[in-house]
Amino acid sequence: MDLKKIAESVYGLTLAEAEELARRLGHPAYRGRQLLEWLYRHQLTEFDQAKTLPADLRKKISETHTARALELLEANRSSNGESTKFLYRTHDGRLLETVLISQQGRETVCVSTQLGCKMGCVFCASGKGKFGRNLSSGEIVEQVAGVTRTTGRRVSNIVYMGMGEPLDNFEATMKSLDILQAPWGFGIGSRRITVSTSGITPKMVEFVRRHEGRVRLSVSLHSSSDKTRTELMPINKRYNLPELIKTLTEINRTLKREITFEFTLIDGINDSREEAETLAKISKPLAAKINLIPYNPIREMDFKTPSKAKVESFQKILEAHGLRVTVRQTAGRDINAACGQLRLDREKDLPAA
Ligand code: SAH
Ligand code: SF4
Repeated sequence: MDLKKIAESVYGLTLAEAEELARRLGHPAYRGRQLLEWLYRHQLTEFDQAKTLPADLRKKISETHTARALELLEANRSSNGESTKFLYRTHDGRLLETVLISQQGRETVCVSTQLGCKMGCVFCASGKGKFGRNLSSGEIVEQVAGVTRTTGRRVSNIVYMGMGEPLDNFEATMKSLDILQAPWGFGIGSRRITVSTSGITPKMVEFVRRHEGRVRLSVSLHSSSDKTRTELMPINKRYNLPELIKTLTEINRTLKREITFEFTLIDGINDSREEAETLAKISKPLAAKINLIPYNPIREMDFKTPSKAKVESFQKILEAHGLRVTVRQTAGRDINAACGQLRLDREKDLPAA
């Protein structure tokens, strides 16, 4: 049997594809819709759980697809109970992390889109080490299904802020967005979904076009100076700050939601008054919200987290310009699970697949 085919997750199927699959296997198209109900309403892991499907169809589907491309190894809750980190193993034996953040009545899943990341931002754990591979749309959606299955909670929000650069795995990300939003899928409204990018401008334009500006866009800015941004994020050499601002100005006409800037504050690097003033100048015409993220130390870098007072004064400068600013609570710092700080730390400690 072809292992690669077996590894294809049914969680990556759209309604049209599921119907086509049923037809191809000699059954009416509505069986495809039934299959999706088992997936998205019951998060099945074995096809035999799909009791309303004929045994013959279940058997045939299981020959080419899996309902468990991700194997849950661990689920760790932070001490304050606000975040849970899920460690999965992929069919090719790699590790993948997903986080559930339970705050203010929301159940937000932070999904990964790649194993590792090619962008290499200097402060980010995901960008360290060798790039693994892109995740399939099924593997992205299965993270949400897995969290729902394990916790029994209804996922209300999704953020694409786990490991990887979503727009560098464009088609799989777009397809997973379709499945998460569809009424036959998870039915999560576009205003509750955020895609975060380091600023791949041509892909940002395409992303906005595909989703008619409805899915939220968050842009990792991290500096309002072109020079500092290049030092922090190599992608800035390719798509520099003026180019990024120009693109944002253009797409802002189509975007139905406000843009968010993520700004990881690093002591003495990007937390000066001048940075804040320039950031305000950039954000104001775009009516962008700003999310300040105090740097979470990673072992490769000797960067420091700014003091609380510094973070506050940075925030005050922005607010004095009438901007909306939030400071990200480092939910789950104790289990190293804050969204956007995922890494394959433990790969070496685990038994081979
Ligand atoms: N690749 C995308 C999405 C994943 S990263 C992007 O960069 O936007 C999500 C967020 O986590 C980014 O804004 C990033 O700046 C932040 N992040 C990464 N490492 C961090 C660290 N050590 N401390 C604080 N924030 C970090
Ligand atoms: Fe990749 Fe985002 Fe980390 Fe940069 S911050 S290395 S783009 S995951």
